[in-house]
Amino acid sequence: MTAPDTLAVIAARLAGYDPKALRVEVAQDFIAQLLSTPSEQGEVPLRQALGRVLSADMVSPLNVPAFDNSAMDGFALRGSDLQTDSATRLRVAGTSLAGQAAAAELPPGGCQRIMTGAVMPPGLDTVVPQELVQIEATADGEYISIPPGLLQAGDNRRLAGEDLARGAIALRRGRKLRAADIGLLASLGLAQVPVWRRLRVAILSTGNELVEQGQALPPGGLYDSNRHTLWALLEELGVEVIDLGLVRDDPQALRDAFSRAAREADAVISSGGVSVGEADHTKAVMAELGDVLFWRVAMRPGRPLAIGRMPSDSGPGTLLFGLPGNPVAVMVTFYAFVREALLRMSGATPEPLLSLQAISTQTLRKKPGRTEYQRGIVSRNATGQWQVAITGNQGSGILSSMCQANALVVLDHDQADVQAGDWVTVWPLAALA
Ligand code: AMP
Ligand code: MG
Repeated sequence: MTAPDTLAVIAARLAGYDPKALRVEVAQDFIAQLLSTPSEQGEVPLRQALGRVLSADMVSPLNVPAFDNSAMDGFALRGSDLQTDSATRLRVAGTSLAGQAAAAELPPGGCQRIMTGAVMPPGLDTVVPQELVQIEATADGEYISIPPGLLQAGDNRRLAGEDLARGAIALRRGRKLRAADIGLLASLGLAQVPVWRRLRVAILSTGNELVEQGQALPPGGLYDSNRHTLWALLEELGVEVIDLGLVRDDPQALRDAFSRAAREADAVISSGGVSVGEADHTKAVMAELGDVLFWRVAMRPGRPLAIGRMPSDSGPGTLLFGLPGNPVAVMVTFYAFVREALLRMSGATPEPLLSLQAISTQTLRKKPGRTEYQRGIVSRNATGQWQVAITGNQGSGILSSMCQANALVVLDHDQADVQAGDWVTVWPLAALA
């Protein structure tokens, strides 16, 4: 096996590679080339498969529904018995209930009372809902009368296999399973689901100013929030989190933490300590243990970013994301660079990100030459169109702006100032969960 290309070699192949002002899209293209794919799979019970990624196509072993059945409570009849210019009168013979085997064949001119989900009696292809008929009890039995023009042959009948045909692919490999998928797999009678192993992602915070919750805040200290934000983002993504804690600005402590990540995790995410002129040892230890590039990305918030790969004893190595320290920058760089990378490494085929166009309610100052992610509040205006207002202070340390926002306003690299009334692109935060 030949050794993988170094990061510098990969970077040299990229058009527009400028580590001091790297375009967001170039950074994304770069990261996309570093991603390992999962190899271990196993089976989990149906309900544990929620949020997991399918490791195989799920082929339907049966027709769903398994038989033609009624979509309504009413009367099953032959469509060919329907009169077009006068009422149709049919004699009622028996009842089909859900869960019963198919009824016997009916004589011509007959119909059968039928409940939703009951097997269509042989030869009958149409159901008239009970609220459309008049029922008549006579000495000779019960009759229904259907006014003309209300019904066509085949109405209110569900065909065998119309949801899923036997042999069809119900869900594709790479699908990250949602609520409807769990129900669909259940409708196929499956109790076990093949999935990829959950990705293991290690997190740590660096910075001597940081303090754990529950401890008194010393002068100059601040509580470590990034590690908890990252934990929450990763939980929402459905990966397994290995929390390496708050790591002191000490080479050996940092070495221990990153080495453990290389042994145990598929990826490691740190925050802080990667900016230019940073006094601490984080960058040096990253470079010592792995093949790492330190970038300034043309984005706001975000700028400093370290991307690397640490060799591991087995497997393709551990991907390293050194995110900036500022709390909003952590979230934005996670959404811009980490989220999709981890989904792909989990074996998932990411769905296109749902974004909106919204009308800016205000002027936004924006310099061309960097991508900006402003925190926005999307609402509907009086005519029902989406509009967006910016939360107050856009500083990269103002985490409350992320709490107030329900969306990120994404202003692309070449965009200049936005005028009130202009359309802008918005990523609803709900779509990023
Ligand atoms: P740095 O990138 O290390 O220069 O950090 C930039 C800013 O983010 C500094 O004000 C740090 O105090 C702050 N910061 C770094 N790490 C964390 C963290 N884990 N939680 C909250 N704030 C942090
Ligand atoms: Mg720092």
